[in-house]
Amino acid sequence: MNIIDRPELAGLTTLRLGGRAIAAIRLDSLDDCEKLPEALRLTGGSAHVLGGGSNLLVHDGDLPITVIRPLMGSRNAEGRPAEPEILGTEDGPDGRYTLLRVGAGMRMPFLLSWTVKRGLAGLEGLVGVPGRVGGAVAMNAGSYGCSTAPLMRSLTVFTPERGLHELGPEGWVASYRHFSLAEPCSWYMSASVVLAMKQADPAELRRIMQENFQKKKSGQPVHEHTAGCVFKNPEGQSAGRLLDAAGMKGRRRGALYFSEMHANFLAHDTKCGIEGRSEDALALIAEARAAVRERFGIELEMEVREWPAWR
Ligand SMILES: Cc1cc2nc3c(=O)[nH]c(=O)nc-3n(C[C@H](O)[C@H](O)[C@H](O)COP(=O)(O)OP(=O)(O)OC[C@H]3O[C@@H](n4cnc5c(N)ncnc54)[C@H](O)[C@@H]3O)c2cc1C
Repeated sequence: MNIIDRPELAGLTTLRLGGRAIAAIRLDSLDDCEKLPEALRLTGGSAHVLGGGSNLLVHDGDLPITVIRPLMGSRNAEGRPAEPEILGTEDGPDGRYTLLRVGAGMRMPFLLSWTVKRGLAGLEGLVGVPGRVGGAVAMNAGSYGCSTAPLMRSLTVFTPERGLHELGPEGWVASYRHFSLAEPCSWYMSASVVLAMKQADPAELRRIMQENFQKKKSGQPVHEHTAGCVFKNPEGQSAGRLLDAAGMKGRRRGALYFSEMHANFLAHDTKCGIEGRSEDALALIAEARAAVRERFGIELEMEVREWPAWR
């Protein structure tokens, strides 16, 4: 465990926005979880779990939060990227599955290429999705017909109420970009997850992954500083199309703008000479919601998580 005072959060997020937390607590192993309650008592502030920071809009200024960074599963003892642990195989009605235990700190792009290389299917739609495994679980990240929750067999979580414990599928609730624990808890941190991945042909998986990446690259601003889609798609609708029709594409405020490529991506122009401010991001989001509400009578729901969530 390592504790850093007043960390700057902008550099820990893909949107490159945000002020300073009270502290950041880095967890490198499951043993560190036992020391977490005492560390949080010392730092104070409300606990916020950080993955890869690719789905976050963090407010500016001094924030009353302590950031927890579960990095277990990201590096091995030699400092190289750690690999998933293969637990075994099982036969299902539609083929053979390999069970993998993966630490919450592992980067999703690493896990994706590791599994595709070994012919393990289920994540190939998530090509181009940044972040870590814990974040993908928390967001039930998904794309091109794949999502995280259906692959999950069990989850090891820490909660302030119960400490570290393991849950089966009945222990969580997942839907489109939603994941929560079934048990009452003030917050939770995923430490590791067991995934069941169907065995398939590696060459075919690579082909699907490359095809998905081409689609993603041609329709989304993957090289700009964004936090992915700002809003969830309303049932049967595309938030991007609604925002486009409401005139939000390219709308700018300070260094923040809705991408010309895809109106549901709020981007930060870090090279324009104007300091990026979360206030501008929040004002653009409010403007976009009002425009879609006025034009279509639809209330857009945030996909990006706002820290701290005080409104
Ligand atoms: C270019 C780009 C493309 C994207 N494309 C997609 C896409 O196609 N599909 C998609 O679903 N998303 C997409 N995203 C959004 C984002 O990458 C995903 O939501 C991702 O899974 C978030 O993971 P993270 O580790 O970065 O989480 P963070 O942004 O760090 O956190 C997101 C939420 O998860 C919580 N969290 C993180 N780790 C843990 C943990 N260990 N335990 C408990 N809670 C935790 C945080 O508290 C926060 O509430 C995209 C983002 C970008 C920048």
